Amino acid sequence: MTAHRTICLAIATIFAAGGVPLAAQASPFQYTAAQCSYCAAWSEPEAPRRVFGNTYYVGTHGLSAILVTSDRGHILIDGTIPAMADSVIAHIRALGFRVEDVKLILNSHAHFDHAGGIAAVQRASGAEVAATKWSAEALRKGGSIPGDPQYGSILPFPPVANVRVIADGQVMRVGPLALTAHVTPGHTPGGTSWSWQSCEGVRCLDLVYADSQSPVSADGFLFSKSRAYPTAVHDFQHSATTIEQLPCDILLTPHPEASQLLDRLAANGHNGPPLVDTAGCSRYAATARKAVAKRLDAEHGKPAPLRPPR
Ligand SMILES: [Zn+2]
Repeated sequence: MTAHRTICLAIATIFAAGGVPLAAQASPFQYTAAQCSYCAAWSEPEAPRRVFGNTYYVGTHGLSAILVTSDRGHILIDGTIPAMADSVIAHIRALGFRVEDVKLILNSHAHFDHAGGIAAVQRASGAEVAATKWSAEALRKGGSIPGDPQYGSILPFPPVANVRVIADGQVMRVGPLALTAHVTPGHTPGGTSWSWQSCEGVRCLDLVYADSQSPVSADGFLFSKSRAYPTAVHDFQHSATTIEQLPCDILLTPHPEASQLLDRLAANGHNGPPLVDTAGCSRYAATARKAVAKRLDAEHGKPAPLRPPR
């Protein structure tokens, strides 16, 4: 969470502080190091692997993409940055699945680091893309739209041609797969978390892909009083409650480090954090609440404590 906040702030700062103007670039989606200093680290390779049952990690080292499979088609959540879409597709194939069998693509939130590769995967697969009304508008535009706390400071991404609008609580189905949308705004007004069950034999677990909950913004934006996004603080609080109340055996997050996901996958209980952890979602929600409280203190001019409270 902290890392995500730092990363997003760094990007916002670099871009606002004099990144190369987008119009001057050959392709606005080949981000330069000046525009995205973290993209190189995010793009480091990560072997695709099973998370549990029919759920697989097909993202990069720093950005998640999650594949849920069935014999009647697959669902992909998130596409990482534009330059890594081919890697996501290669990972799907490396696991023995056909990208053409991806029938539905979902998204956590419509920022370049999670939605940037979706247009390319949609072209390769012919899949339908589905998102909340606000996210669908941002996906169609290929960038942030008013109401986004990072509006004006975050990178554009390839627009997504066909996006179906979905509602909170809607169950998205492909064959036997059923993923439920939980609208969890705050980081963006359209942010969405996803929950589903995966089974190994008779053992079925609840998986949650919880959207980013970091209060990151462009310079000048105040979560405490934004005319463009007046419900931001309430939304964060509501989202934390939603996430902590979800049945949650395995927590997945758009930035894997926000939930130690890769460490948990590697260790799976052996000398490391356990993959299955029913407290994962409530801890994630608690971290989000603290980050929002700290941000609001800063907006109200309260100095940060000199040493952590005991
Ligand atoms: Zn974001």
